Formats: sequence, structure tokens, C-alpha cells
Amino acid sequence: MSYLPAPTRYDAMAYRRSGRSGLKLPVVSLGLWHNFGGVDSLENAREMIRRAFDLGITHFDLANNYGPPPGSAEENFGRILAQDLRSYRDELVISTKAGWQMWPGPYGDWGSRKYLVASLDQSLKRMGLDYVDIFYHHRPDPETPLEETMGALDYIVRSGRALYVGISSYNHEQTRKAAKILKELGTPFIIHQPKYNMFDRWIENGLLKVLKQEGIGCIVFSPLAQGMLTNKYLKDIPADSRAAKAHGFLSKEDITPERLKKIRKLNEIARARGQSLAQMAIAWTLRYPTITSALIGASRVEQIEDCVAAINNLEFSEKELKEIEKILAG
Ligand code: NDP
Repeated sequence: MSYLPAPTRYDAMAYRRSGRSGLKLPVVSLGLWHNFGGVDSLENAREMIRRAFDLGITHFDLANNYGPPPGSAEENFGRILAQDLRSYRDELVISTKAGWQMWPGPYGDWGSRKYLVASLDQSLKRMGLDYVDIFYHHRPDPETPLEETMGALDYIVRSGRALYVGISSYNHEQTRKAAKILKELGTPFIIHQPKYNMFDRWIENGLLKVLKQEGIGCIVFSPLAQGMLTNKYLKDIPADSRAAKAHGFLSKEDITPERLKKIRKLNEIARARGQSLAQMAIAWTLRYPTITSALIGASRVEQIEDCVAAINNLEFSEKELKEIEKILAG
């Protein structure tokens, strides 16, 4: 059946400017790391993308290696784009990345110019695109000179393959250095993609400050701690959950009794706020204005609907914030 996006798609979603750039992102964006690969249902993936777009999610985040198998999330996204969203390309912000192992040999990993340019060309082909909106270096490379990696990002923009660039998981010192090089080159470096959630707060120790000073936006990945900060694991570990699946980076062992205790207490606060735990976890990451967007994952349409409704209550009282701190410290 052909797809017509909802005319109401821009009515409720909030959009924040990424740093001091001209680009606005929805406060909730959708990532295709899990559940969009060759092992997953294409029909379900298609329904999730359509529903996300109907709810005002204009930003979809990919990487060369998303699947499994690696590359298959980009292929599936390319299929869905061609089928459903071809006429809406200018309403979409599509990102991809390179930096983790993608193909054998010395040129399919890390941060050389050789790898980044070739990888993006492959990504564009898989997605059927002429350009991406944002291209990221996926992780810092301890061996390649930063000047080379940043020079590759600059070339990627100048050659028309991407409109903006970003970096992911660089610490605050690396970020400061990258920003300096890219400023000198005149490259539109507008965004950083770090992990951030109630259980992993490393960006509060320096990175957020650097991003604010440099005027760079921040899109945080795994705001739900891969599903732990939701009602999913309150009773047990569902068979179709990420923690129960063989692939991926969340295991049953991660759901410890201590963590569950905290999750249950956090869930009580969320209920008192009239939110689901997922909604509160998303709103909590967005409490800093430097944070442009919370980048969620999903395995079904209802999760996207639940997460997007976080926008109905993004404010926290001092008391709520203190209670959350107490639970997390406990
Ligand atoms: P989340 O922390 O949002 O976890 C997503 C998972 O949480 C879903 O797959 C689902 O689990 C569960 N979930 C989501 N919404 C709900 C809900 N409302 N109620 C109950 N459960 C829910 O993010 P991800 O870890 O998936 O990461 C998001 C994106 O961030 C990725 O797709 C990718 O684009 C990016 N990312 C970037 C990285 C980087 O290095 N730059 C690294 C990792 C991610 P289930 O599948 O069990 O149903």
C-alpha cells in the first residue's frame, strides 16, 4: 500500500537547534542500530519508520556496520526510502558513520581518509542517496593523526557527500582538538554523538562544557540504556527483548538485582509525573539545553509512540531531580 505521511506530523514534536548551526533536530530521533537489519522483519522496520515520520521524527541515524549483517540496516533503510519517502528527502535528516570494523584488511576500520571516503561511498550506494545530511567519525582512532581524519571529514563535505559532520564517543580533550582543526578548515562540524543515560553520565565530566563553549550540538545515544530504563525488565526478561537476543551488546547479566531495584524506584517517580519510565528517561537527558536530541532505538511501533510522548512533560522540579540523584547514588 502506498504511504501518505500524516498532515499533522509537525504539530506536536519539538525541534532544537544543533549547537550554533542552522540545523534543527527533533528532540527524539530514531536510530537503526538494532531491529532494522537483514535478520529482522522488513515490514516491521517499514512500519516503524513510517510511524516515526508521522510523529515528527525527521532524523534517522545509521552507520555503515548496522545490521546484522553489517550494511543491511542501510540497505533496508534505502528500500524503505525508495518505497515510501522518496518525495520527502528534503524533510529528512539522514546520518551515517564509519569508524568501526567494516571490511577485512587495513582499510576497513578506524579513521584513515582511505577508509572514511570509501565507506561513505558504500553507504550512499546502499541507501540509494546522493548525499547524507550528517557524516560522523564513529570513534576516536589512537593511531591516525587527527588532522588526517578531520581532513577527510572536510573533504567529504566539500565533495558533496555530506552537508555537515560530527564525531562520536570522542572525549572532551579530543573534541576540543577536533573542533580547532575543523574550525580552521571551515568545516560545518555541528554535532557530537556520545552515550548518555541515567546509568552512564560520563559526558557531565567535561564534554558538555566543551560542546557548549564550542557551539556544537549533542545527540545522545542509548538514552534508555538499551531498554533497561523502561518498564520492559520490571518483571522478567522477555524472550523477544534485546537482553535475551544472541546478538547485540545487552546481556541478561546486565540486569542485576541492584540495577532492578533502582529501575523500580525510578519507575515510581515516572508514574508520579504521569509518565512511563522511558518517557522520563528521555526527558531527563534533554534537561540540558546543550543536548539537542535523544537518539532512541525501538523494536516496535508502540515503543516509538511511547517515547515521543516524552515531549508532553520535559520539565523537572528540583525535588524530582534530587530524588532521581538519590536513587542513582544508592
Ligand atoms: P535505547 O537506549 O533507546 O534502547 C532502545 C531499546 O529500548 C529498544 O530496542 C527497545 O528494546 C527498548 N525500548 C525503546 N522504547 C521503549 C519503550 N517505550 N518501552 C519499552 N522498551 C523500549 O537506544 P539504543 O541503544 O538502541 O541506541 C539508539 C541509537 O543510538 C542506535 O540505533 C544508534 O543509532 C545510536 N547508537 C550509536 C552508537 C555510537 O557509537 N555512536 C552506539 C550505540 C547506539 P527491545 O529491542 O528489547 O524491545
